[in-house]
Amino acid sequence: MNVAHRIKTNHKYTPELRQVSKETILLRSLLQKSREFFNSGKTRDIEFRLAQLKKLREAVSANKGQILKALGDDLKKPGFEAYTSEIGMLFQEIDYASAHLKQWTRHRTVGTPTALAPAKSRIVPEPYGMVLIIGPWNYPFQLTMAPLVGAIGAGNTAVVKPSELAPATSEVLAGIIGAAFDARYITVVQGGVDITHELLVEKFDYIFFTGGTEIGKIILQAASNHLTPVTLELGGKSPVIVDKDASLDMAAKKIVWGKFINAGQTCLAPDYLLVHHEVKSELLERIKRYIHEFYGDNPKQSKSYGRIVNERHFHRITRLLRSGAKIIGGRADLSQLYIEPTVIDEVTLNQPLMKEEIFGPILPVMTYRNLNDALSIVKSLPKPLALYIFSNNKKTVEQVTSGTSSGGVCVNDLVVQIGNYYLPYGGVGASGMGAYHGKASFDTFSHYKSIMIRSRFIDIPRRYPPYEKRNKGFLRRISG
Ligand code: NAD
Repeated sequence: MNVAHRIKTNHKYTPELRQVSKETILLRSLLQKSREFFNSGKTRDIEFRLAQLKKLREAVSANKGQILKALGDDLKKPGFEAYTSEIGMLFQEIDYASAHLKQWTRHRTVGTPTALAPAKSRIVPEPYGMVLIIGPWNYPFQLTMAPLVGAIGAGNTAVVKPSELAPATSEVLAGIIGAAFDARYITVVQGGVDITHELLVEKFDYIFFTGGTEIGKIILQAASNHLTPVTLELGGKSPVIVDKDASLDMAAKKIVWGKFINAGQTCLAPDYLLVHHEVKSELLERIKRYIHEFYGDNPKQSKSYGRIVNERHFHRITRLLRSGAKIIGGRADLSQLYIEPTVIDEVTLNQPLMKEEIFGPILPVMTYRNLNDALSIVKSLPKPLALYIFSNNKKTVEQVTSGTSSGGVCVNDLVVQIGNYYLPYGGVGASGMGAYHGKASFDTFSHYKSIMIRSRFIDIPRRYPPYEKRNKGFLRRISG
């Protein structure tokens, strides 16, 4: 059995330490092997790639129980949520990529301008080489493995760095990959910020990062040292707008589900609610009813409600409870890392709740009278990962979708758009750059190389010097 490479370091990163540390030497040798494996050309073979995707699926399938247990240990994820959002989604990505890979890898023949004819021109997707995938802790399995599907499909070798804040999942993920793959081909490096810095000093051919906006800046800066292209899947404040003609019951039900799944620690969760003043009280009444229906009298006892990942995030989120007027929930218990599903009214843009991504089970509410006022609020904040609008009026939906910028939009639902592999998934501006899922994952990890093959038989002499001799008439014409 191949055991994935595993480097856990305690030392603080400094350039001097890097030069002498054993971890650095181990890391470099690992990367050297990964590069050699890529250079052997093995990963360019389509049958090889398909076989690896199959292996990945089988390995995940064989370890479903372990994965669910680890997600329970790290985040108290309810089994149903964990299976559908972490394992089921991954299977979907693997199956879709496997079914379409041959089509995606085909060379595309394109035209050639007359001035360059005769020639044959084509566009060929080729793997970047050795890629680095850095994962977050909130959906720690799926958000680390789904990019890997793209990396494999496109023919790269990969180094995978799962989040240290979901240690049980990181361990299981390393075990699965270590057992399934040659460590020169795909390897897992476990560790914290220091090891991520160690990795970022090295040269990769592509970096795929999922995490917070501030860390995204560090990644982009580090990547610039090697001119390494990146995808940054970041977060932000995704608004949900509920207009006066929306189906209120459906909106309330879906908002409660999308906000409180994984205890609000979902990058695509609605961060704050903008509701038309005429329907506010009815919507909030229904939200209250659905929180009760989903999680019972005491959500702490509910098997369908998760926990906050660690004490640092618990304190960060509970500090936010101090703003506005709590109208639903608000209780918290540090010993269980539990924060109740909470709705806060009378929120203003200058309160802490609206100054940062909440990433926890608190829904701030703001009211608007005119849709343009709601859109002004959305536009005054950095571009979000998602924007949600509940409305039965096509004009309203059009006004919102065309009048704002966000990674994506979902109308009359939330979060579920991530499951549509026909739609590229990614942010814009502060919520990220680049996208993946389905074909977009293959594209992300591929360089589209342009190839032109010219005829050997025709070579027009006019392009060669001395120009005065070969282009007399032309030069006379352009000089007037
Ligand atoms: P994070 O940015 O803290 O951590 C992500 C990864 O970066 C981890 O592997 C971590 O080890 C590494 N890291 C942390 N600090 C670092 C540093 N100083 N230098 C280098 N590497 C560092 O993110 P998180 O807390 O795991 O996830 C929460 C954030 O991620 C939220 O903002 C959320 O919206 C966003 N997110 C986005 C998506 C998406 O698909 N767009 C998905 C999940 C989470």
